[in-house]
Amino acid sequence: MFPSFDDLISDAVVLALPMRVRFRGITTREALLVRGPAGWGEFAPFVEYDDDEASQWLLAGIEAAWLGPPPALRHAVPVNATVPAIDASAVPQLLERFPGARTAKVKVAEKGQSLAQDVARVNEVRRHIPNVRVDANGGWSVDEAITALRAITEDGELEYAEQPCASVEELVSVRAAGTGVRIAADESIRRAEDPLRVVRAGGADVAVVKVPPLGGMRAVVALSAQLADYGVPVVVSSALDTAVGMSAGLAAAAALPTLPFACGLGTGGLFVRDVAVTGAAVDGALSVGAVEPDPVLLETLAAPADRRDWWLERARRCHRILGSRDLPNFV
Ligand SMILES: [Mg+2]
Repeated sequence: MFPSFDDLISDAVVLALPMRVRFRGITTREALLVRGPAGWGEFAPFVEYDDDEASQWLLAGIEAAWLGPPPALRHAVPVNATVPAIDASAVPQLLERFPGARTAKVKVAEKGQSLAQDVARVNEVRRHIPNVRVDANGGWSVDEAITALRAITEDGELEYAEQPCASVEELVSVRAAGTGVRIAADESIRRAEDPLRVVRAGGADVAVVKVPPLGGMRAVVALSAQLADYGVPVVVSSALDTAVGMSAGLAAAAALPTLPFACGLGTGGLFVRDVAVTGAAVDGALSVGAVEPDPVLLETLAAPADRRDWWLERARRCHRILGSRDLPNFV
């Protein structure tokens, strides 16, 4: 049953998690956690998202807490290390937080930085980790992307380049340019009305999928099956989730029939402290399972009262939007 708003927030906590490094322009990650009959769920759309977009995230949190995960086909999920747009000299210390990682995702195309800095950062990561992918978050033009991908692959291979440009049409052009680098679509799937459009247009070899914006684990499994029909594998990634949201990402990845690439679910290390003490990655893989937040940590990490009110009000508006929609998993 779909919960009433009172049921939804009866055990809700709003948290403010300090981060070790600035990521996505923020240094504190706020999240609302809910508890239902199946466990905990997370509602943490980025603050700039409007209510329509944010309501998908609430649906994902409600699915986790009221329905629980779909059946798992594996017990552990390989995950990548994440390297923000830091100076190359800071890379070795950062990678200490990802022991055993065999894949790293490196942020590139950061505003105010040069291609030389991207190349230096990627090459430094290559000294420690065999598989490297880059994420430009749509920051390059077509010409810049082609130049950059050629420069970055001069000294080694790339597993893929994630969202080198912003638009679907640009991704198609970069992919057609023959740089030899696979193109992965992230924003073009996550924030699109039609997540398959970029694939039909020929703009992606790989699809990055995330549980919260797609509205849940079951939605990820369903979209992945559609993408498989186009021969496009998925990489399940996090949206800077707490350990609770991450467990839903891991459960979605665990439910997929094939998983050829490491998933982007290893971002918990970016928090100074997470909501639960979960096991570290073993041989670059995280184990799949429910997460129970530590009550002491929930208290320590509680957001200030004004932020708690803001999140509860946002959840109320999003809950109302969901109430007016057809929700097939909740009939
Ligand atoms: Mg991305």
